[in-house]
Amino acid sequence: MSEKKLPRFIMCFCTGECPGFSKLNLWKLINYVRNELDVEYAIVHPQLCVTDGDKFLRDYLREGDKDTVYIIGACDPRMQRKMFKDVFSEKGLDFDKQVVSLDLRNMDTEEAMKKVAEAVNKLVGA
Ligand code: SF4
Repeated sequence: MSEKKLPRFIMCFCTGECPGFSKLNLWKLINYVRNELDVEYAIVHPQLCVTDGDKFLRDYLREGDKDTVYIIGACDPRMQRKMFKDVFSEKGLDFDKQVVSLDLRNMDTEEAMKKVAEAVNKLVGA
């Protein structure tokens, strides 16, 4: 029986200057996700929706890899879809099936941890 692939967590921290994330302790969140939750790994990007973010995703996503699910912690899920779906399509991936977009703005660290934990547990069936 093949092992179920664990989701990957990408935290977009909106340059670190966005007031929407002022209550969030980034490193506490990311260390919690990578150490305590069933993810393959967790990473941070400073600003996924600008040119270098786009370049990063183009480099990072594996062509045709339809098995990996990405949980993206960032802003409004509708905005995320608008900003990221093309690069997923370019790589032969399906944004709507392979991305769980979480809006973590205006949350404190505990609330964000809970929201990510719920998303991971829902995916891995915990
Ligand atoms: S994707 Fe959203 S959270 Fe990330 S930098 Fe852009 S606006 Fe900010």
